[in-house]
Amino acid sequence: MRPTHLRDVAELAAQKSHGIRLKYMAGCRCLPCRAANSRYECEWAKARKSGDWNGLVPADPARRHILRLSKQGVGRRAVADASDVSASIIAQIRCGRRTQIRKRTLNRILEVTNLAVSDAALVPAGKTWRQIHTLLEEGFSRAELARRLGFASPALQLGKNRILARNAARVDRLYRLFMKE
Ligand SMILES: [Zn+2]
Repeated sequence: MRPTHLRDVAELAAQKSHGIRLKYMAGCRCLPCRAANSRYECEWAKARKSGDWNGLVPADPARRHILRLSKQGVGRRAVADASDVSASIIAQIRCGRRTQIRKRTLNRILEVTNLAVSDAALVPAGKTWRQIHTLLEEGFSRAELARRLGFASPALQLGKNRILARNAARVDRLYRLFMKE
C-alpha cells in the first residue's frame, strides 16, 4: 500500500465492522478480516492469471460518475470508502487533474452506487424534515412514520442537520408515495 494511503485506510477502517479487506489493510489480523483479505488476494491472483487487463484508460467516465454521486449527496470520502480508491485520487479525478486511471480503478469507481455508500454518506437534512412535517400534518403519527421507514423503535431517530443518505432516500420514497406533487 502507498504510505500516504495508510492514514486514510486506518481512519475509514475504524468506523467499520470486521470481516472486510479495508480493516485488514488497516492492520487487523482477526479471522474474518484475514478471510476477507485472502478472498481478495485469490480473486486478484485469478484475475491476473486470466490476463485481466489493467492498463491506463481515460478518467472521464469516472469523473462523470463521481459528480453524479456528489449530486445525490455522496461525497468523495464516501466514494473512496466504497471503491477502495484513495480520497486524494478521487479528488484529483473529480477536479480533472488526473486524466488517466487504471482500468480496475475505473471499474471500482463505476461500481459505487448511492446505495453502496449509504451507510457512510451524510446529506443535509432540511428537505427530509420538511417532508416529514408535511406527512405529520397530513395525519401520520411519528410512530407510524418510524415503522414505515423501517426503524426498530417508534422514535424518528434522524439528525437535525445531517442524516444518512439512506434515510433521506427512504423518507423521499414515502413522501412521494403519499404526497402527489
Ligand atoms: Zn478484524
